[in-house]
Amino acid sequence: MINARAINHLGIAVRSLADQHAFYADVLGARLEGIEEVPEQQVKVAFYTLGEGDHAVRLELLEPTAPTSPIAGFIEKRGEGLHHVAYTVADLPARLAELKAAGVRLIDEQPRNGAHHTRIAFLHPKSTGGVLTEICEDKG
Ligand code: ZN
Repeated sequence: MINARAINHLGIAVRSLADQHAFYADVLGARLEGIEEVPEQQVKVAFYTLGEGDHAVRLELLEPTAPTSPIAGFIEKRGEGLHHVAYTVADLPARLAELKAAGVRLIDEQPRNGAHHTRIAFLHPKSTGGVLTEICEDKG
């Protein structure tokens, strides 16, 4: 059991961060925390936060920066929309080893760099009931 502690964020695939800003900021009232590029994943990421403190929820909007980006492939196949659910865990490498030993299919066998000073790894939707699942840990 990897003992997920919270939903860290929801990942949403979009064609254009700029086009979606009005909905998230002006309609939902979410705060834009920042935009950063993650070259390894060929995405530009905007983080929005709703609510305060322990009840805060983060949304990660993902815009592809190249046609070969996994997010571009996702949008091509399924359109814009919910892309993944990310859970906070402690000691990510140990959790990945446990999952692998338990027969869970991993997309990332080793942690990689995510946005927002995190280390992340994706689990294959075939092992998670069809939901692309990210587990992540703050780098501190
Ligand atoms: Zn994510």
